[in-house]
Amino acid sequence: MTSANFSITLNTEKSDIMRKKEFKSSSKKLLDMMINSIYTNREIFLRELLSNASDALDKLNYVSLSDGSLDINRDSLEINIIRDEKNRVLTISDNGIGMNEEELEHNLGTIAESDSLNFKEANKDQKSAEIIGQFGVGFYSAFMVAKKIEVLSRKYNEENAYLWSSEGPDGYTITKAEKDSIGTEVRVYLRDDTEEDNYSHYLEEHTIRNLVVKYSDYLRYPIMMEIENSKLKEGSKDEYETVLEKTVLNSMTPLWKKDKKDISEDEYDNFYRDKFMDYEKPLRVIHSSVEGTVSYKSLLFIPGHAPFDYYYKDYKKGLELYSNGVLIMDKCEELLPDYYSFVKGVVDSSDLSLNISREMLQNDRHLLTIAKTIETKIHNELVDMLKNNFEDYKKFFEAFGSQIKYGVYNMYGADKDKLKDLLIFYSSKKKDFISLEDYVNNLDEKQENIYYASGETVDKIDMLPQVEQVKAKNYDILYLTDYLDEFAISILGDFNGKKFANVSDSDLDLDTEEEKQEIKKINDDNKDMLSYLKDALNGDVVDVRFTNKLTNHPVCLTSEGEVSMQMQKVINAMPTDEQVKAKMVLEINEKHPITETLKELYNTDKDKLKDYAKVLYSTSRLIEGLTVDNPTEISNIICNLISK
Ligand code: ADP
Repeated sequence: MTSANFSITLNTEKSDIMRKKEFKSSSKKLLDMMINSIYTNREIFLRELLSNASDALDKLNYVSLSDGSLDINRDSLEINIIRDEKNRVLTISDNGIGMNEEELEHNLGTIAESDSLNFKEANKDQKSAEIIGQFGVGFYSAFMVAKKIEVLSRKYNEENAYLWSSEGPDGYTITKAEKDSIGTEVRVYLRDDTEEDNYSHYLEEHTIRNLVVKYSDYLRYPIMMEIENSKLKEGSKDEYETVLEKTVLNSMTPLWKKDKKDISEDEYDNFYRDKFMDYEKPLRVIHSSVEGTVSYKSLLFIPGHAPFDYYYKDYKKGLELYSNGVLIMDKCEELLPDYYSFVKGVVDSSDLSLNISREMLQNDRHLLTIAKTIETKIHNELVDMLKNNFEDYKKFFEAFGSQIKYGVYNMYGADKDKLKDLLIFYSSKKKDFISLEDYVNNLDEKQENIYYASGETVDKIDMLPQVEQVKAKNYDILYLTDYLDEFAISILGDFNGKKFANVSDSDLDLDTEEEKQEIKKINDDNKDMLSYLKDALNGDVVDVRFTNKLTNHPVCLTSEGEVSMQMQKVINAMPTDEQVKAKMVLEINEKHPITETLKELYNTDKDKLKDYAKVLYSTSRLIEGLTVDNPTEISNIICNLISK
């Protein structure tokens, strides 16, 4: 018998008086929450307990591999479900690794303490078993249906058994007990039925059978239960009797080894959710069986949202790698390129040698072949989604588009050709996302370029003066709002022969020859004044010129060369020392009344013209979403001008 203080730190001193221990204080709240809200679906408690039992069998199997003195026969490892309808107790027992007193205390006395996760971490680099548990909360889900839970357990290599018992958030007791064989027995004392809630059906044969098939069919150990069968009476020809027969409930065939046509969508979904800990079903399932120089089966999933740790440095990509149904590696990185790091799944190939070490795996020819075909499959699936289910694709792109764009840009665009058809951007005409292929296919006959404009939001871009002129020609414009967009586009350069053109580029060429000549003449005629304006801006711009691009707006900023204003913003905001400066050009609408005013001032009041130059430049910065470097000065100038 053990005793403990009712405190946060557990007192491990032993005494003869049995006292009830509290769950660690934070655990209590968690347990309440758990019972009431984490799972909306009570029935999953069975899945959780079965997964724990399977983990326990895996652990024992694993330990026996490294400890020859243990006489464990893998074939004897099994899980049993026992229904006791009279006492309303459902028991899940396993002959797995078991828990001793400390482990019962540690694993079941602290919620969100997952020993399975620790085990997995500790055995990371080895052929660790397929451990399902990770969150350390699964066990407690049984309180959704139980008024009391008992766990009788005896650890391998130990003589003593212990009984852990709890009636919910108030606490638990651990007492010494008897158990003939090693393993664990979890006894779930079902709650009483009420008018709204029926708990009894968890004792029914067919309910349990259905739940096992639904959630735990692919567990790799037999889940046994006594099933009522009708049998011919011995010695009789026509008289039947009902007998209880131990029957295996699960098929144990891993889902990926089953025939596609025998698998329902639900089965795929449940498998995915269970194995990859997602609360949402995947967007796409790619199940394939490949026979050839390298044969393998793979079951891949494209998630509908990014896992919580996806954008953290520690996120590890990879697929589970099995050889003949035995897990070799938890996350085989070589099977996925970085830009598809969001894909989850398993690959099983009998062509891989079980003895291969990690190092050898990296150069394994077979593995590279598999990786290549897998990449093609993922790509094709994504293209299919883009073409046939654009709503899903948008969801996908919202979650993982950055990864694709980064893939395009990364390594100087080495992979851009493999990924460019997966890019989508917001289109000014469609007012929705569009693929580059669709954009190019819908080009206006006269249109030479793929036009784009960047900014913080679609609304802000839509108001840019530079956008006006392109829209006036009835051309579609891609609105780039993600900071990676312009980098991806600049590395692409063109798509199917059509060049990308930034509407804010000073070289943007939309004019007819005639218009070009006309504006050139106006600029030439006012050369001196324009150069005076440029000097007034003290090197902030590389040029000031008149333009015929702007319809209503008086001024805009454009940029010359590689670095656009948007890129300047992005690069300078990065936590590196690198700072860049876009070469900006101040363009003035030649048809706007301001032009006459400027010309006049050049002849009458040059000081005032200087002030005008500063105000025009500052407003054009504001339009671009840039800040004004000298706000006080500009504010004073404006106040002076309006108070006259
Ligand atoms: P998880 O399975 O997510 O780790 P649980 O709350 O379900 O969390 O279980 C907590 C821990 O209790 C497990 O990590 C495991 O160490 C231990 N445990 C649970 N069930 C068993 C079992 N049947 N046999 C041995 N250990 C178990």
